[in-house]
Amino acid sequence: MSTGPELRVCVLYGERLNIYADRGNLAVLERRCRWRGVGWRLRRVTVGDELVAGEDHLLYLGGGQDADQQRCAEDLVNTKGAALHEAAGRGAVVLGVCGGYQLLGHGYETPEASMPGVGLLDVTTVATTSDRLVGHAAVEIDLGGERRVLAGFENHRGRTTVGPGGSPLGRVLHGFGNNGEDGTEGAVRGSVVGTYLHGPLLAANAWFADWLIATALGLSELAPLDDAFEQRAHDDAVRRAAGEPTPAPRPRRWRRARRAGAPGGSATAGPPPSAPPQR
Ligand code: GLN
Repeated sequence: MSTGPELRVCVLYGERLNIYADRGNLAVLERRCRWRGVGWRLRRVTVGDELVAGEDHLLYLGGGQDADQQRCAEDLVNTKGAALHEAAGRGAVVLGVCGGYQLLGHGYETPEASMPGVGLLDVTTVATTSDRLVGHAAVEIDLGGERRVLAGFENHRGRTTVGPGGSPLGRVLHGFGNNGEDGTEGAVRGSVVGTYLHGPLLAANAWFADWLIATALGLSELAPLDDAFEQRAHDDAVRRAAGEPTPAPRPRRWRRARRAGAPGGSATAGPPPSAPPQR
């Protein structure tokens, strides 16, 4: 039994807020914890469940279609809002992707519905009746003094504006970001982070997954991993956002067994044999 740290994660509305396989973000977090011998505990809460302010280190909301967001929004505010504020107040990471990000703000107005948000981020979102903002995107962000790039895919009709009480997560290098106009993407306040980037986000940005894990656990650093494959995925995502060709796939030699830094690790990094070839 592991006596080291354990990452306790709570996913909200995982069955509804999960477009573009956003649950992959949880898989990446789990793998990167387990490879290092960091324990992993996941719990799920959904509509109707009370969110008791517990000991979660990280709370996660994925993206969703408007109709699914609408089913969650009031419940989020009424039965989970207070606990989310409490969690953020004690430094737990709260991560929202796209639809989840919009609901972490003050609300999301569409022509069909007015959805409340929990107000953890000072952002407001209004949907246009017309075009969606769709495509590959890359964003430069600065978390703790080091500039890094987040890359992913966005598809939203909401246009988000960051208010004076918030800070954008990053600056758009390629793509649309919050609204396609002001060059900002996402928002951050303390340990609360929102972004429009799917991908899933953390599969394309392993370094960001590690930042989330370390921040959630209050660690200054994590054991290094062999990230050659993850780096290629990231580089390809950045190239796609820049409109550059991505290199032809090479035959993969999946890493087996132990990853650097994973004490006694037996995890494998490859897909099951039936997985389709990478594009
Ligand atoms: N339904 C929201 C929008 O269209 C969020 C979409 C998403 O999560 N990708 O803006």
